[in-house]
Amino acid sequence: MSVDTSARVHNFSAGPCILPKEVFEKSAQAVMDLDGSGLSILEISHRSKPFIAIMEKARALVKELLGAPDHYQVVFLGGGASMGFHLVPQNFMRTGGKGAYAHTGEWSKRAIAEAKLAGDAVVVASSEDKNFNYIPKGFTVPKEVDYFHFTSNNTIFGTQYKAFPTSPVPMVCDMSSDIFSRPVNVSDFAMIYAGAQKNMGPAGATMYLFDPGALGKTGRKLSPMMDLANHAAKESMYNTPPVFPVYVIMLTLEWLKGIGGIAEIQKRNAAKAELLYATIDRLPLFEGTTAREDRSEMNATFVLKDKNLEPAFDELWKEAGISGIRGHRSVGGYRASLYNALPLESVKALAEVMEEFAKRNG
Ligand SMILES: *Cc1c(COP(=O)(O)O)cnc(C)c1O
Repeated sequence: MSVDTSARVHNFSAGPCILPKEVFEKSAQAVMDLDGSGLSILEISHRSKPFIAIMEKARALVKELLGAPDHYQVVFLGGGASMGFHLVPQNFMRTGGKGAYAHTGEWSKRAIAEAKLAGDAVVVASSEDKNFNYIPKGFTVPKEVDYFHFTSNNTIFGTQYKAFPTSPVPMVCDMSSDIFSRPVNVSDFAMIYAGAQKNMGPAGATMYLFDPGALGKTGRKLSPMMDLANHAAKESMYNTPPVFPVYVIMLTLEWLKGIGGIAEIQKRNAAKAELLYATIDRLPLFEGTTAREDRSEMNATFVLKDKNLEPAFDELWKEAGISGIRGHRSVGGYRASLYNALPLESVKALAEVMEEFAKRNG
């Protein structure tokens, strides 16, 4: 089966987001017939041999691509990264304990709220004073907390840690919007988690990669559904896993491995971000909204200095087949998401539209 991609738009959506064309093709095929089995991926048992193989491959590819230590575990659960905000204190905070948090935007705010419900959250760094337009640096994490949590890439505000913080306590990171975009030293983290729909698959699954040795220290018995150790012991099959999302994640990770893995995608992402930020900086009509050194390579946020020009600009990029660059409803302006599967050609198309618009309004 082939998918007509000639009519495809340049999709800059922040999530759910663009996936590689061949992933769309293979998953469309598997909906009709999974690898010649006569069954659709939508109707096979999660306990069937073909699906167990898919699950194992997806779990193994996460570790292989990120170079995770052997003893780390991978599970895929429903509930979104937002459920991850809840699972973090459930699994890492002792009863009556504390989690330390870096507060860099909307997602960290929600993570902090969950920690406060479970026990206490200590905010050790925040960029709220400047509406989250930078990444706080040079902060220290106290020793007397159970873990430290931060958000590697702030999807809404367009900031990204270029160097990861260090911590004397287990470090947990929400990498939803830049997972698999650049190298990570996994052993620095007790856990990395990420909703699939920003860079590795469709909505409906969240990936948790963790050191099982960092679990089991809370001093209480967890609900089996909230217990990451339980999900790992059951090889991510304690209950029915998100079968189709896991399949599409597996295909996306296969694609990533096939093009050369993280090293290659990092180069491609850098080229895309460089082109877009250079265009924003060169054209006086536009302005980036974040501190330059903290600019995200995944979500580039910018504004038109003259807001009155927005309707005309919107018309022009829509005409060019561009989609999904309006900023998050809470911040306005524009946000171009440059996730792994977005081709450089799409960024070139956007840059050309911006140049053309500048010419007309210069
Ligand atoms: C989108 C996003 C979330 C929330 O993900 P859901 O799957 O909607 O729960 C959390 N963290 C970050 C960094 C995100 O980009």
